[in-house]
Amino acid sequence: MGSKVVLLSGGIDSSTLLAAAVDNVGYDNVTALTLFYGQKHAKELESAKAIADFYGVKHLVKDLAGVFDLSDSALLQASDNQVPTGSYADAQTREADGMSKTYVPYRNGLFLSYAAAIAYSVGAEHVYYDAHADDAAGNAYPDCSSVFYEAQNRAIWEGTGKKVALVAPLISMNKAEVVKWGLKLGVPYELTWSCYEGGELACGQCGTCVDRRLAFLANGVVDPIKYAKPLPATEGVRQALLQLGLDPDEHLENIPY
Ligand SMILES: [Zn+2]
Repeated sequence: MGSKVVLLSGGIDSSTLLAAAVDNVGYDNVTALTLFYGQKHAKELESAKAIADFYGVKHLVKDLAGVFDLSDSALLQASDNQVPTGSYADAQTREADGMSKTYVPYRNGLFLSYAAAIAYSVGAEHVYYDAHADDAAGNAYPDCSSVFYEAQNRAIWEGTGKKVALVAPLISMNKAEVVKWGLKLGVPYELTWSCYEGGELACGQCGTCVDRRLAFLANGVVDPIKYAKPLPATEGVRQALLQLGLDPDEHLENIPY
């Protein structure tokens, strides 16, 4: 079986994907690739290293921060924009074009091209990419959509002389389904970091914190990391809790954090 390059951010999705790749072909056939892009904090990088160490895979870390010097994405150090609180659904109601304030311009296009170049160089057949259905919903992150994935896959396949293919096993899963798979694989989620803020603890209220906490709740499990604050009482979070059959008034106050 062919070896794989896995884009590893240190969050839930890419850590699950790394676990699946190791499960599939063994740790010595997997290279984890972490790309720094000028994000506001280095917590993700520490988590990526911890996860790669846990699985014993080769880990490459590269710096692409210079590419995004001109962007004002709320995720970047160079930007004064605040990271919005609330669920992804809340964010989509605020943006006129549906795109998130935390979208980083064509980041995944850049990352995947970079990963394809590395994969070709190390003789890997596949690049594993962790886009999932929640990221693409409502055009929040258009470079996570199925259409983008298919186009990028074709470009990489043709552009590497049919040597490297892109694989996105999570593309039709929501976050809860990703966590469900990861729990089965025994992913050490306590080592992961998702929060867009760089605090001592994860904030608990930005889009990615909310999404992840709800994903664990959907599986009847408490997220193993600690949070600075309870879930925010926004309409999107209330609706999400209701959809899980949970009482928002109880959970927004009493949820463990
Ligand atoms: Zn957060």
